[in-house]
Amino acid sequence: MVLSNPVGLSEPEQPPPSGAANARVTPMMEQYIEIKAANPDCLLFYRMGDFYEMFFDDAETASRALGIVLTKRGKHLGADIPMCGVPIERADEYLHKLIALGHRVAVCEQLEDPAEAKKRGAKSVVKRDVVRLVTPGTLTEDTLLDARRNNYLLAVARARLSSADEDARFALAWIDISTGEFRITECDRASLAAEIARLEPGEIIVSDALFADGELAPYWRTLPAVTPLARDVFDSGTAERRLTSFFAVATSEAFGALTRLEVTAAAACVTYVERTQIGKRPPLSPPLRESAGATMAIDQATRGNLELMRTLAGERRGSLLDAIDRTVTSAGSRLLAQRLSAPLTDPAAIAERLDAVAGFVEDTATRADTRSRLAAAPDLARALARLAVGRGGPRDLAAIRDGILAAAELARALAALKDMPTEIAQALEFCRRPDGMLAAELAAALAAELPAFKRDGGFVREGYDAALDETRRLRDESRRVVAALQARYAEDTGVRGLKIRHNNVLGYFVEVTAQHGEKLIAAPLNTTFIHRQTLAWQVRFSTTELGELEAKIASAADRALGLELDIFERLTAAVIAQGAAIKDCAEALARLDVASALAQLAAERDYARPQVDDSHDFVIDGGRHAVVEQALAREGTPFVANDCDLSPPPFPPPQAGDGGEGVGRIWLITGPNMAGKSTFLRQNALIAILAQMGSFVPTKAARIGVVDRLFSRVGAADDLARGRSTFMVEMVETAAILNQAGNGSLVILDEIGRGTATFDGLSIAWATVEHLHDVNQCRALFATHFHELTALSARLPRLHNATVRVKEWHGDVVFLHEVVAGAADRSYGIQVAKLAGLPASVIERAKLVLAKLEQEDRAAPKGFEDLPLFAAPYKTAPVPADDAYAALVAALAALHPDELSPREAMDALYALKEKLKATEKK
Ligand code: ADP
Ligand code: MG
Repeated sequence: MVLSNPVGLSEPEQPPPSGAANARVTPMMEQYIEIKAANPDCLLFYRMGDFYEMFFDDAETASRALGIVLTKRGKHLGADIPMCGVPIERADEYLHKLIALGHRVAVCEQLEDPAEAKKRGAKSVVKRDVVRLVTPGTLTEDTLLDARRNNYLLAVARARLSSADEDARFALAWIDISTGEFRITECDRASLAAEIARLEPGEIIVSDALFADGELAPYWRTLPAVTPLARDVFDSGTAERRLTSFFAVATSEAFGALTRLEVTAAAACVTYVERTQIGKRPPLSPPLRESAGATMAIDQATRGNLELMRTLAGERRGSLLDAIDRTVTSAGSRLLAQRLSAPLTDPAAIAERLDAVAGFVEDTATRADTRSRLAAAPDLARALARLAVGRGGPRDLAAIRDGILAAAELARALAALKDMPTEIAQALEFCRRPDGMLAAELAAALAAELPAFKRDGGFVREGYDAALDETRRLRDESRRVVAALQARYAEDTGVRGLKIRHNNVLGYFVEVTAQHGEKLIAAPLNTTFIHRQTLAWQVRFSTTELGELEAKIASAADRALGLELDIFERLTAAVIAQGAAIKDCAEALARLDVASALAQLAAERDYARPQVDDSHDFVIDGGRHAVVEQALAREGTPFVANDCDLSPPPFPPPQAGDGGEGVGRIWLITGPNMAGKSTFLRQNALIAILAQMGSFVPTKAARIGVVDRLFSRVGAADDLARGRSTFMVEMVETAAILNQAGNGSLVILDEIGRGTATFDGLSIAWATVEHLHDVNQCRALFATHFHELTALSARLPRLHNATVRVKEWHGDVVFLHEVVAGAADRSYGIQVAKLAGLPASVIERAKLVLAKLEQEDRAAPKGFEDLPLFAAPYKTAPVPADDAYAALVAALAALHPDELSPREAMDALYALKEKLKATEKK
């Protein structure tokens, strides 16, 4: 295992001692030190009996991290060896804490029975080795995972086409080892962060070089678990071989046309899985390539801002996901989260998902029946993964049994569905895939009550296996013999309170109270009873007969457990043999869950089916905010629905450069604080996301031309939750939008320019609206408290002024939350302040000051039109005047179309295109 410096572990490692110093090291410590040296970047969980022990620095780190007692054990080089340990049955819990704190753990097990080791001599050490590395991205245990979220391991590989960073290409390969999902995609530097934000990986692996890269290093540090790995893992020369040998295929072409870079990232993933799972093979699906542009691009700031997966405070509660999640299985919940984080851009694919939802919306009875059947289906994918990597238990086998049966029944129940939508039909076919014999076999084999671990035994049903039944009878028989023996000893000795007991040190022993002890120690009874132990109140003895019986019982119990474990292995092998079918089945159940859950949501909250097409339209009829609406409903307050139309206006006719599809509108929304501007902005963005993920939407009707990129930014003052120095961040993010948004994008800007002095802010907001209108030509919603901006609509044909209505009532302001055409007449700041409970004296004073200011304003009018900002001639295409651009303009000016032959005209066109390319290279 070659790992370079870990990120998680900052403590310096104990250098393995060598040479003469080793002389006084016990054989066990020697083994420990050797294994530790091979895993320097991990905490070593060293198995000793019923505990995992940690020594030296590991012990100190772990005792601090876990709050467990630090003790000592023996000496090393004259100094005490610090030690701490965790009992194996609570190991998961401690692992969870350590992983969450960014540690990696190497689990070292005893590979033989201590009795075996003893046979080699009294001093010999039990064979041990590391069987698994536990890292954040390679977890399989339910106790270590969130059932409702995927946990991805992501490999990032980079190829540089030139020395410029913008030219670099990145390949991303990600695996959820707990479900087997495996995907690949490629992207450029600009969209790297957005892709990673979409996946929210549990762990990212990169090469040492990429980790230390001057430009990316600060970014890696913002992410939770980035593991740098030695070069060989990302070696493109061996990548093809590593990937194909993992899947036992001849060539990676089996997975479709992958680039060399994608193969490198995929190979890094499987190599890391192999190295952390050490010989165990999780049931990975073949890598599936996601084509760029298939999903709506949403950058990290936008995701956070729209509170898609969690709120700005980091909670799931209050997020869009939480508001729409009606799934009844964890696999369904994971799939829903996946779809929400990656809305589609292909109208046909979206329609297919919507068809499936529609099927369940109309048929209430079928929906209810499907959901109750699904609720009984366990998490097939994760149970399968655990069984495949040797960490499964009897309950995982039961989960497979119940999942397969539930799927088969569901397929039967839904077979009669009218006008079967394609997605459901396919899901039902997948539901029938696993062999029914497997479920029957599992049902026959498994007992009614199942222990958590296979080592506990007792999970095979009586009557399933004759040999097992026989051994168990022997074991139980012997127990009865012990009881009979106790009665006989009591009679022989005349000690009525004599008991036969068992503990781990003495095994079976005879116990009498202290007052009877002497009797058994003395002749003649001492020939039968061999004194072993005198305690304060009891005396303990062994007998030859009891010793023999004990050996018989132990061996019968051992044999019974051995037989059970054989059966477990056989059943597990049968399950793994059906792995692909079981995974398809699990996927199908998740899809049915998502479709019926979205239908449930639509029915419950009166959502409508959106129409999604390739236009640039955006017509929302009676839209609501999915989250705010539900929050208000809990308080019994109705949500005021609002329309929105960002479609290209019919006039003026399509302009040059807009591709003929028309260019969408910008709505400029003014209105006082608390009127509902931010809510309106976000609700429209959320509707677009919901529609494209394949959900019905909270509207009366909606027609949406596919949004290829979505941007949302909030002005600095609203961004306190993120606790960042605000104005700079606001400007950086606004810059990103103005540089990236195209005419398929939807842009939400909320109070941009608020974080600075008024005139600065106004000027920036002003120029931003112009740029969005003329250069980005995107659909946009722009909320602002700068009323002056409404003047822009006179000049920008696709700018539409809207305002949120308020009413004045006896000096108070009443919010109607109704979005109407027009501009707000005033800001009502003082009324809002009054609502907020500012002291009456302050309110009165503020009114006086305002009246005075307004008067003076009128006396010495400083019309806004006089500002240089307005006087300056406005350039419609504010492209930086660089040389290439100037050359293009000059060439264009020099052309005289009337004097050109057709041939010359063609040549001139080509020449212009070339010059245009030169400007784009900039
Ligand atoms: P603004 O951005 O204009 O200051 P917000 O969008 O933050 O206003 O809304 C203020 C509050 O008004 C919200 O917390 C919400 O409870 C309520 N609200 C907003 N829009 C609506 C609506 N359409 N119907 C009902 N209540 C609304
Ligand atoms: Mg607001």
